Amino acid sequence: MVKIFIDPGHGGTDSGATGNALLEKNITLQIALAVRKYLSEYKGVSIKMSRTTDKTVTLNERTKEANSWGADYFLSIHINAGKGTGFESYIFNKLSDTSSSAKKRTIIHKKVLAVNELRNRGQKKANLHVLRESKMEAALTENGFIDTAIDAIKMKDKAWIARVGKAHAEGIAQIYNLKKSSPPSTPTPSKPTSNSIKDTYKVIKTTEGYSTAQDAKNRKNKRSTVSAGTYYVYKKASGMLNVTKQKGTPGSWINPTTSSPKQPSFKVGDHVVIKNSAKTYATGEKIPSWVKNKSLTVQQVASERLLLKEITSWVKKTDVSKK
Ligand SMILES: [Zn+2]
Repeated sequence: MVKIFIDPGHGGTDSGATGNALLEKNITLQIALAVRKYLSEYKGVSIKMSRTTDKTVTLNERTKEANSWGADYFLSIHINAGKGTGFESYIFNKLSDTSSSAKKRTIIHKKVLAVNELRNRGQKKANLHVLRESKMEAALTENGFIDTAIDAIKMKDKAWIARVGKAHAEGIAQIYNLKKSSPPSTPTPSKPTSNSIKDTYKVIKTTEGYSTAQDAKNRKNKRSTVSAGTYYVYKKASGMLNVTKQKGTPGSWINPTTSSPKQPSFKVGDHVVIKNSAKTYATGEKIPSWVKNKSLTVQQVASERLLLKEITSWVKKTDVSKK
């Protein structure tokens, strides 16, 4: 499990740089939350943030928290000021260009530069608190100039924020060779091999069997009852499945929407509770008991999983109930 500490610059009473009716603290938080959102789509990563709201956190508190957590990487997000234009990134000034820190920073720098439509001001070094006092490898990005109109206009664009956040996440994923944890949202039907399909299908709830795919679709002319269990898929047509206990021989057509229990639909902002029976997060780690029986907020919805805000974790939809 690689531990990534994301540090949105400034916050609370410290607004950071200002310009063009923008405050640095707000932009850094939006980008950092986007980094977290995209990074949490990967397996084997644990994420902590120095702040997730507009609150005051001292520089010392930021590095102390990352150090005591034992983060593997410290990523600090900032916005520049001083009437320049463009993107630049920093590592601690005592590090060499061939250091592992420098190489990691280069990966992030290139990823972000490829999407932010900002001039490249280069990969730089500086004696900054968060880079110096963090015990782990660290980088700080300056994502444009808040007091320069052509840079600031981008910061007002939600799509730009998302792109920049995603690029930081992709950089980290590349550095640690992280793999996406969620399967594609629409499963691609497997190609039939000769006459049979190798897939199996689990009928969760006893359902009706039909003679044709069309009947199954219309739920007309029921022919048999298909009891719960695992079946071979003989054929697929119009979203219907022909399932059989004997591989390679035709069985009954079923309507998959009736054979699986209906799942409640979730939307962002819903309050849910993790079921007592739940064992692991969608990413595989054990669910500690203290998060159960607690009202949690849905922050993101994927095909089979939900990102819960208070615990920054992906949980299988089947493991939660609506509050
Ligand atoms: Zn700053």
